[in-house]
Order: sequence, then C-alpha cells, then structure tokens
Amino acid sequence: MLDSILKELSKTNTTLVAVSKTKPLTAILDMYGQGQRVFGENRVQELVQKYEELPKDIEWHMIGHLQKNKVKYIAPFVSLIHSVESIALLKEIEKQARKQERVIDCLLQFKIAEEDSKFGMQLGDISSFLQSSEFFQFQHVKIVGVMGMATFTHDMVQVREEFRRLKSIYEDLKANVFLENVSFKEISMGMSGDYKIAIEEGSTMVRIGSLLFGSR
Ligand SMILES: *Cc1c(COP(=O)(O)O)cnc(C)c1O
Repeated sequence: MLDSILKELSKTNTTLVAVSKTKPLTAILDMYGQGQRVFGENRVQELVQKYEELPKDIEWHMIGHLQKNKVKYIAPFVSLIHSVESIALLKEIEKQARKQERVIDCLLQFKIAEEDSKFGMQLGDISSFLQSSEFFQFQHVKIVGVMGMATFTHDMVQVREEFRRLKSIYEDLKANVFLENVSFKEISMGMSGDYKIAIEEGSTMVRIGSLLFGSR
C-alpha cells in the first residue's frame, strides 16, 4: 500500500504524512522499515510516548487539536504542527519554542468544512495579526502554510469545493502576507477518503491513516 501511494504522490511532489494514531509501535516500525519517516499523531500523550520509544530520525507531526497547556510537552521535538487554530496557541508555541531554543514549523488551520466540529481560524483575524508588530517579533515559529479538513461526506463536489476554499485562503495569504517568504509553501489537505481530490486541488501534503494502517 505504502509503495503505491508514494508512487502516486511522487508525480506531484506531495509529502505523505503517515497518520499512526491509535496504532502500535510495531505497525509504525514496519512502515519505518519500508522507508517512511514522516508520521502524524493527534494526541499529545501518544505522540510523546511514541517519540520516546521510536527511532530519532522520525519526523513527528502534530495534526490534532492542541491545547495550549500541552504545547510544552511536544515543543522539544515536534517537527511540524498542522493544527494552529488560534492566535493564542501560536503565541504559546512561540513561547515554548523559545524556551527550547528551537524554531517550530507551523501550519495555520482553517475551517473549511460546514460542520461546527472542525476547528480552525478565520482569515481576517489571523491576517491582521500576521501583519502586527507583535508577530514581527516572533523568532521561534515559522509559518510554512495552511491546513484544513473537508466535511466528512460522500459528496465529492462539496469536498472539492472546500479544498478550493483552502487553496484560495493560501493564495490570499501568499499574496498579502507572505509574498516574499519562500517557506510559506505547504497546503496540508487530503485524508484516506479524499486525498486524490486534494491533490488535484493543489495539496502539497496529505495526511493518510486508515488506508495505510487499516481501519481504526
Ligand atoms: C485521523 C486524521 C487523519 C487521517 O485520517 P484517515 O481517514 O484515517 O486517513 C488526517 N488528518 C487528521 C487531522 C486526523 O485526525
């Protein structure tokens, strides 16, 4: 499975984040043995535990809802946080990354789905913050792109529409805030059920769990 997905992704240079949440260490090691190095988890405790027990050249991505008071546990090692869904959280990541003397790569999560349950920020709010003098002082977070989750539905027309919304948010930020910033280049969208559409709509990073590891 891994091979055929990677082959597909290589055509468009899309990064695979293997979503290993709830899966045992053995399953991750098996994938690791096949060459996969980027893994995503959605719970802090599980992420920390797996980080501690698995090879240190794994790149760990935090993809799930992140509470401010838990940032400190992942700040020492996390390589990308996909789920920055508030300015307050971004400030906390800056603070904890500074303590660790690190720069943490972050994606801004936007709400593109209709459902209320999906987290994310509003473009207007974050856009003005990113142009504020406060943000200008930040030296320990690097915003490398955006992330979004489509509605969980079989209506692929709607899913495509939502991915387009994220792409246009990305384009807006690129044009108005990150114009000369080459690091701002990632669009994290697409999961097991909709990653093909996401790639067609410009995804640079897909987060795939069940298709790789089996259902949870
Ligand atoms: C679980 C999860 C995924 C992967 O979902 P699958 O449908 O198993 O591929 C992707 N993104 C986030 C944020 C998740 O929580």
